[in-house]
Amino acid sequence: MKIVCINGNIRTMDEQRTVAEAIAMEDGLITKIGSMADVKGELETADRVIDLAGKTMLPGFFDGHMHLLSYGYSQSMAYLDDCTGIEDLVSNVRNHIDARNIPEGSWVEGRGWNETYYPEGRMPNRHDLDRISEDHMIALGRSCSYICVVNTKTLKELGYYDNPPVAEVGSVELGEDGHPTGVFVGEATHLIYSRIPTLGVAGTKEAVLAACREYVTAGITSVDTDDFELTRAGTFREILQAYFEMDAAGELPLRVRLMLYLPTRELLDDFLTLGHKSGDGSPFFRIGSFKLIGDGSLGTRQAALFEPYADDHSEMGEINQSQEALSALMRRAFEGGLDLVGDGMGDRGIYMLLKAYEPLVRENPGKDLRFCIDHSQITTEGLIEEYSRLGVVGGCELVFVASDIDIVEQRVGVHRASLSYNWKRFYDEDVIVTAGSDSPVEHFNPIDGIHAAVNRLNWDGQPEGGWIPEQKLSVDEAVRAFTIGSAYAAREEDVKGTLEVGKYADAVVLSEDIFTVDPAKINEAKAVMTFVDGKVAYEA
Ligand SMILES: [Zn+2]
Repeated sequence: MKIVCINGNIRTMDEQRTVAEAIAMEDGLITKIGSMADVKGELETADRVIDLAGKTMLPGFFDGHMHLLSYGYSQSMAYLDDCTGIEDLVSNVRNHIDARNIPEGSWVEGRGWNETYYPEGRMPNRHDLDRISEDHMIALGRSCSYICVVNTKTLKELGYYDNPPVAEVGSVELGEDGHPTGVFVGEATHLIYSRIPTLGVAGTKEAVLAACREYVTAGITSVDTDDFELTRAGTFREILQAYFEMDAAGELPLRVRLMLYLPTRELLDDFLTLGHKSGDGSPFFRIGSFKLIGDGSLGTRQAALFEPYADDHSEMGEINQSQEALSALMRRAFEGGLDLVGDGMGDRGIYMLLKAYEPLVRENPGKDLRFCIDHSQITTEGLIEEYSRLGVVGGCELVFVASDIDIVEQRVGVHRASLSYNWKRFYDEDVIVTAGSDSPVEHFNPIDGIHAAVNRLNWDGQPEGGWIPEQKLSVDEAVRAFTIGSAYAAREEDVKGTLEVGKYADAVVLSEDIFTVDPAKINEAKAVMTFVDGKVAYEA
């Protein structure tokens, strides 16, 4: 297969930032790139010649942190975020069942309801859900994912109707008739979720492929995905098997590097018995980095801070394990041949990861380690200097700045906020930056992340001039994070991240040149064509 693209504004993103007019791709690789004259000899033997008509081509986007499987799985649920009331919710879920022809007796899941905005002024209960169906097992999660409601059939099938379970943590709401109302709160939601059959290998494949097909429409050609966290899909062995099978069958529409979220010694040791090392695999599927989550999100005040939250002095956030446990797991994984990545949201969460990495860096002088910290949100000058000193890659989920602008100062006060989401400072300190979307937490479109990092505005375009404008990234820096930066973090910069001869022919064509368009309009640009492995994977 040979494709030649001509008349383009091809931003190769190579060291010299060469802009080419034409590119030839053959058998999955870039074979020529340069002027129209340079590819003239290729035209005759090409299977397809594509006239880019002046449009901008970039290296394919590499989303450095996201959750393919969770995204695919969430797409199979009824989407309730926009419901205006309980009546609306009832008809929405009914339509969902009809549209998908979900057979009676099966589970129907939904997510995103929020009674705060409902005229009824109350949460939905089993009686409301019974009006949707008395023959399906219905479980609908609240937007906070901390509460779920089920219908009467579900209560009966699970044996909870006549024998309401007593939750040790969380609660099972009871009605005046002594039966559960259908509302399960907090940890008690597991009484429901743990009973829903897992996806298994076949279901995992379906969810992953559905997600991939959407991602390529945004110009994404590679991802670093954390899928083991979705325990409702199945065991890590099943998820791995699904990927190995999809890869062997040539089914993956984009290139996947699988993060290894194995939060206990038992799980990690079990994984290591399989003998996989980071980097093992094929051009379409590779074993990625061992992953741990240091702390939680800023919105829920779970990001671990050194000083209390400004808007709740009793809170300093939550860590997921002690420093000792975190360091020991990271060391064990490293010695087992795995690269390391951690999610660090708050300054204390980030510090703990740096502290886990530090002795490994010290004991391995001259070794190309590329440990990574994703999210990197609440920082200080000193922390970012530590990234630099230890050669840690800064994982920056660029789009978060747009979503979090309105809460950062409330949560941590003006001073700490001014040092946070300091993506530019990472570049100033010579830290390699990789960008991700954390989809499905945020939308996966990399253009949103680039727009957010360049403009630093919330979703309503505020504040004017941008929040902490000196931390705005240039378009070049934001694109680099989503291409060569992520490729570096994955140790794949030799084959990905720029458009150069010999590299994978993975590229995106955009409707606008985001380098020259008014920065306020970057988010109007769309991917109009995506190439993966030298083939057209998406065409608008
Ligand atoms: Zn994530």
